[in-house]
Amino acid sequence: MIYADNAATTKLDEDALNAMLPFLRENYGNASQSYSFSRSSRKALKEARETIASCINATPEQILFTSCGTESDNWVIKGVALSKSVDWKIATSCIEHHAVLRPCKWLENKGYNVKYLSVDSDGVVEDYSLDGINLASIMFANNEIGTLQPIKRVCEKAHASGALFHTDAVQAVGHLEIDVHDLDVDFLSASAHKFNGPKGIGFLYAKKTSELPSFMNGGGQEFGFRAGTENVASIVGMAVALKKNYDQIEKNKKHLFHLENILITQLNQGDVEFIRNGSQNHIPGNVSLSFKNQDGEALQHRLDFEGICVSTGSACDSRNVQISHVLKAIGLSKDFAEGTIRISLGKENTELEVNQIADSIIKIFKSQSY
Ligand code: PLP
Repeated sequence: MIYADNAATTKLDEDALNAMLPFLRENYGNASQSYSFSRSSRKALKEARETIASCINATPEQILFTSCGTESDNWVIKGVALSKSVDWKIATSCIEHHAVLRPCKWLENKGYNVKYLSVDSDGVVEDYSLDGINLASIMFANNEIGTLQPIKRVCEKAHASGALFHTDAVQAVGHLEIDVHDLDVDFLSASAHKFNGPKGIGFLYAKKTSELPSFMNGGGQEFGFRAGTENVASIVGMAVALKKNYDQIEKNKKHLFHLENILITQLNQGDVEFIRNGSQNHIPGNVSLSFKNQDGEALQHRLDFEGICVSTGSACDSRNVQISHVLKAIGLSKDFAEGTIRISLGKENTELEVNQIADSIIKIFKSQSY
């Protein structure tokens, strides 16, 4: 099996798994208890928060653990807006993940005003007019086509207009250097399973927690902002995976850009006609390809038959036969959009695997029998 769908999820890192196991077995003490048996859980929780904070240049108190990226996004968008009046105006891009777009739609149904910013053919937001906006939420890296937005510049614009700024950095954290202090973002969402951590755990960075309403009320966990007994094992796994990715970030980036080049060169040499979607400035390893007059889903199935896992678009949308909102937003014509697959390479992919992916695509196109 060749796994090339790392934007959907990644393999759990072996060191992360090993670090998690004691907290699933013998060290099961509730981190909120003060007796000595819980000391190791408490210590691990504290250290994981410190590790994660240091990876993005935050302070530990600015890191709030959540169950996933979707929760982090919902918490900020719905939470902050609902804690203000319905006059609050929100701006987002039209290529966000549904974890941002659907909370925005939900707020619209409650009477809030949401402005959807358009993007150019590379997927970069064209015009950041944020006058009158109270909260802007713009993704760091797009999950379908990999395009990066100029987050620091947009955040400056948002602040100049008096708006709070959130970025959904689920695809970027662990893959690109992120310095929240330098970016000056107010909120940032992340999810462990996108950077070789476990599923079902994520975090929200909040510059000032005073801007954030509590998400769940109950015990005093997460500084009183998100009640519920902490998932210590997963939090520990997330911290180990993130630190490991950041310790090797330059090596991983170089490896992934090298693999991308091999893939594109091989396809060109194989006389396959395609468009590569997204910007030059993209998340390492994300290769979105559109083939004219082809069926992306059929291509995905043929590759699956060859033992290769790729996506037809966003994994969360993979049962949806409609052209994705992202491909529509970049203005891709229907004859290309319908034949789109996303190959998202990860640090564990090899040159040999990428050659096999290219060979299989070329073979499928030569046979044209699917
Ligand atoms: N935001 C982006 C950009 C994503 O790619 C995803 C997942 O694909 C999410 C949010 C949701 O993250 P999670 O699966 O952790 O809820």
